[in-house]
Order: sequence, then C-alpha cells, then structure tokens
Amino acid sequence: MQHFDIVIVGGGVVGSATAYYLKKQGFRGSVAIIERDTTYGYSCTARSAGGLRQQFSTPENIALSLFGLSLIRNLEKEFGAGADVGFREQGYLILASGEGVRVLEQNHRIQTANGADNILLDAKGLKETFPWMETDGLVLGCFGRSGEGWLDPYSLMTLLRKGAVALGATVIAGEVSGISIAGERVESVTLATGESISCGILVNAAGAGAGALARLAGIELPVGPRKRYVYVLDCPAATEELHKAPLSVDPSGIWFRPEGSHFITGLSPEEHDEPPDLDWEVDYNWFEERIWPGLAQRVPQFEAIKVINAWVGHYDYNALDQNAVIGAHPRIRNFCFGNGFSGHGLQQGPGVGNALAELIIHGGFKTNDFTCFGYERIAEGRPLFEQNVI
Ligand SMILES: Cc1cc2nc3c(=O)[nH]c(=O)nc-3n(C[C@H](O)[C@H](O)[C@H](O)COP(=O)(O)OP(=O)(O)OC[C@H]3O[C@@H](n4cnc5c(N)ncnc54)[C@H](O)[C@@H]3O)c2cc1C
Repeated sequence: MQHFDIVIVGGGVVGSATAYYLKKQGFRGSVAIIERDTTYGYSCTARSAGGLRQQFSTPENIALSLFGLSLIRNLEKEFGAGADVGFREQGYLILASGEGVRVLEQNHRIQTANGADNILLDAKGLKETFPWMETDGLVLGCFGRSGEGWLDPYSLMTLLRKGAVALGATVIAGEVSGISIAGERVESVTLATGESISCGILVNAAGAGAGALARLAGIELPVGPRKRYVYVLDCPAATEELHKAPLSVDPSGIWFRPEGSHFITGLSPEEHDEPPDLDWEVDYNWFEERIWPGLAQRVPQFEAIKVINAWVGHYDYNALDQNAVIGAHPRIRNFCFGNGFSGHGLQQGPGVGNALAELIIHGGFKTNDFTCFGYERIAEGRPLFEQNVI
C-alpha cells in the first residue's frame, strides 16, 4: 500500500495552500493531494467571484484575509517573476439602510482595530464618492480604501498547487470513497478505483464535498453545497466611473462589481428560497425578478443591460454558522478540517493553509490563534456567527 505522511483530500485553493505551506514551512515528510477532478472545473475555487475584503465581523476572519492580501502583494517574491493573479484593488463597499447601520458601525470598529483601511461614508459622502449611485434609502456605507478588491481565483489556486509540487508535494488523480479508522485514528483512504493509501494525517479540503467526506469517517460536519448564480452583464451606458466601482453590496444583498469591460452580479437567497436542485443549471428568472429591479434602482445605468453569460457555483456552506472549521477533530486527532467558508474561502485559503501547516508541524497555531474555528463548536452546536456573509 502506498503511504503518505499527509493526505490532503481536495486540491482547490485550501488543499493546494495547505500542501504549499507544509512544504514551505519545512515539513520533510511526504505530502499528497488527492483530487477527483483535476480540471477543477466544478470546484468552488474556479467558480468563485474572486473577492478579497477585510470587511468581516470577527478579528480571526480579518486576519485570514490579511494573510491572503499579504501573499497577493508579494506574489513574485513567493512564486517567482511573472506570478500574477490580476488583483484589482478597487475596494469593497458594503451599504446599509437604517436597520443595518449599527452592525456596520460595529464591524467597522472591529475591522479598523484589526488592520483594515476602511472608512464609513454617510449618504452625502457616498454620493460624492460614487456619483453613479442612487442613495435613496441608504444611511451609511463602509468602503475599503486599500487592501480590498478581487483577483483571478484559478490563478491563485494554480500558483499554490504548482508551488507545492515544486517543493515536493504529489498530486494524485482519484476520488476518495472510503476512510478506514482504527481505534481513534485514520489509517488509510480508499479510492473509487479500489486502491488504498495509508496516511499519518488526513486533511479534509473537499470544499462543498467536505460534509460527505467527513461522513466516510463517521464524523458529522454540517458543510454541503449551496447553489449560487453569477451573471455577467454588458452595460453599454456604463461610465468610466462605474467601471472603477468597488465590489458593492446593497442592503438587499445584491452585489455587483466590474469584470473587465463588463460587470458581474449575484444575490444569495434566503434560507426559504434556496434552490432545491444541486445541479449546474442557471436560473435566469432569479436575475430578472430578484436582482435586476434592485440593481437598476441602486445604479440607474444598469437599467439598460444584457446578460451575456452566467454560471453556477456551489458554496461550501456551513449550515451551523457560515464560518470556517479549522483544526483537528477532538477525538480522531489525525483528521483535520479546512472547511465551511460559505462564500469567503478563496481569500482565506492561503491563511487557512498556513494555519493548518503550523498545526501539523508545531502542534499549535503560531501566526494567529484560530482556536475559535475548531470543530468543538460544531460538536457542541455552539455557533460562531460571521455577520458579513455575502
Ligand atoms: C459563486 C461563488 C462565489 C464566490 N465568491 C467568493 C469571493 O468573492 N471571495 C471568496 O473569498 N470566496 C468566494 N467563494 C467561496 C470560495 O470559492 C470557496 O470558499 C473556496 O474556493 C473553497 O476552496 P476549497 O479548496 O475548500 O474548495 P474547492 O475549490 O471546491 O476544492 C475542493 C476540491 O475537493 C475535491 N473533492 C471533493 N470531494 C472529494 C473526494 N471525495 N475525493 C477527491 N477529491 C474531492 C473537489 O473536486 C474540489 O476540486 C465563492 C464561491 C462561489 C461558489
């Protein structure tokens, strides 16, 4: 039977980053990433909107994103000349009507105390800074002046994975369909082909498939796929200023941002509106009925637009609290989680990979303490809510 000291299931941004930072931090043992779809075409990472922000409600989520930002600012130093993820530092703008003001102010205090460069703008300030916006009903906005924007998810994942392979990690094409436990340890994984691979430690980096993977080890993890749509818009009337807009989030939850010469937009449904099917079919009515009216009301230039493309992505959704699960299982100590990011795992992938590598090599977190993300809260049904889930 083949053996690897670390088996990482899933080669998206989290699995790739974990392999990369294990090797970068000097782990001398063998590391394998097992990935069932080496095109990564249906991975959460490839279908992400690529946003990076510090506008979170907990210091730990801010720290994870700042880690990603620092990597993105130092790509050539990290991966060599020409390394690029197309970072567009145009900011995030989270808007609030009366109801959301208190939370926005509270989050802003936490963000700036933890290193974010964000400012609050009242309705007048919003209109002056973003003249394309209709500010009716708005009371406040929080704008990231630097350090926020978006990037190409596939490029980031590929740099990390190639970086890991260059440092000695192995990528195995295959689907993990069984996990063998002896006593309180993972002994091996079985692939759909029947082949078994023994391991010292298993890292669950299976994205939206994380709950299903954990179940193979008899572990309950409330992480599964949630269907989300992203629409690509052509807007011939868009001014130069609109093309310089930040990733803007309306109080209704509708978000948009520039994408090349076009724009992309989306809206996460409320629990009762979740699409029942977990397929890859785009619902164009969702755009026509739920997004367009609100979008055009907030940005009148979007009254004349055409949907020229659209895609479906499956969020890696943590049904307990929409927050990450990071660390070892309290009983099966060699089963580690890097899961449940619920729409913000691209920017957090590098920080999560670094944290898991620290945990595995040193037996504890070094750069930041992420104990709060541990599986213990899942087992106890004790949510750690992240308020800014987009
Ligand atoms: C529409 C959309 C928009 C998003 N926007 C943003 C954003 O703006 N900013 C942000 O930070 N995040 C965003 N996200 C979330 C982000 O993309 C994810 O949180 C992140 O990519 C998760 O990375 P991952 O490596 O855990 O999962 P994935 O990228 O899904 O990788 C997991 C891999 O595991 C493999 N796998 C699963 N089960 C098995 C198995 N049994 N055996 C072998 N392989 C297996 C899968 O094939 C997959 O390739 C968005 C997500 C979606 C869907």
